[in-house]
Amino acid sequence: MTSIHLHRPKRSYAARVPGITCPHCDTRAIARDSVQADPLTRVIRFVCDNPECGHVFIAQLAIYRTLRPSAKPNPAIVLPLGQWRGKPANDDETPPANDDTPPAGEATTAPS
Ligand SMILES: [Zn+2]
Repeated sequence: MTSIHLHRPKRSYAARVPGITCPHCDTRAIARDSVQADPLTRVIRFVCDNPECGHVFIAQLAIYRTLRPSAKPNPAIVLPLGQWRGKPANDDETPPANDDTPPAGEATTAPS
């Protein structure tokens, strides 16, 4: 008797990088090659697909936040926990740019 549970064919994950467009002409750019700069960063060389533009540029693919912790953690890798499209961990929060409260002790006299 044959099993009715069919195994799905193993997915093949070809080496791909997320699409990016040329910042000058907004045409699709093609990843030509890449190097691993460190465990968290890959540097990619892109070539604009528009022959009238010809822009060649470097982009970085960086790992900067954990959504679900690894079951095989590398102690050398330290990443803040966060959410998809969410804010990073609270300790990464920066004060708002419009925080115009004067530092303590600063003179508040009007110019004469
Ligand atoms: Zn371009």
